[in-house]
Amino acid sequence: MDAFFYEKKDDRSNYICNMDLNELKRKMAETIRSYNLKGWSPATSTNYSFRDLEKNIWVSRSGVDKSEFSENDFITVNSDGIASGEFSSVKPSAETLIHCVIYSLFPDTGVILHSHSVHPVVLSMNAGLAIEFQGYEVQKGFAGCVSHEALISIPVFDNSQDMNEFAEWIKQRNDEFGNHCFVIRGHGTYAWGKDLFEAKRHLETLEYLSHCELLNKFVKQ
Ligand SMILES: [Zn+2]
Repeated sequence: MDAFFYEKKDDRSNYICNMDLNELKRKMAETIRSYNLKGWSPATSTNYSFRDLEKNIWVSRSGVDKSEFSENDFITVNSDGIASGEFSSVKPSAETLIHCVIYSLFPDTGVILHSHSVHPVVLSMNAGLAIEFQGYEVQKGFAGCVSHEALISIPVFDNSQDMNEFAEWIKQRNDEFGNHCFVIRGHGTYAWGKDLFEAKRHLETLEYLSHCELLNKFVKQ
């Protein structure tokens, strides 16, 4: 898995800077459609966001079939998750506040990805406050993890329809996000990074490990 080390050493700090807004929107839309093909966003669900060079927050418009999601389906919101500018008449996804809290807690964040994939959702139904992984090569996909022997702990939150309440829960556990992701029980995963490349790596690492761990539990039974 030398690729992980190569990418971590590679200076991608200009990844967003080198991309204009339209290119970034296109790359995000491409990622959203590819995740839909994996079955990670059924029935128009999930949401995604990024920040542009001026730190404006762009979130995916809700209610759009993710198999048809395009670069024109992003809207801007303010730091409270309220649609802003030319999009002020559009109602953003109820989960937009989660994105805003992550950006405020971790100012280096450039992209946040959300998935409703099956494996972490099922795994979370029997988990406590965290899901743990150990012994997997791919866990090195998390920034800062250099060994398959490390014990990786991913926070799990109960689901809530009250986004203000949920935002408070995230703030209270902000020291548990060393792996740049968390799981919402029975709901899905959130992962983030300084750019799209890193956010994808974190989300896909969590998704892969969840799949392995679920199968591992099944095999052990
Ligand atoms: Zn969701």
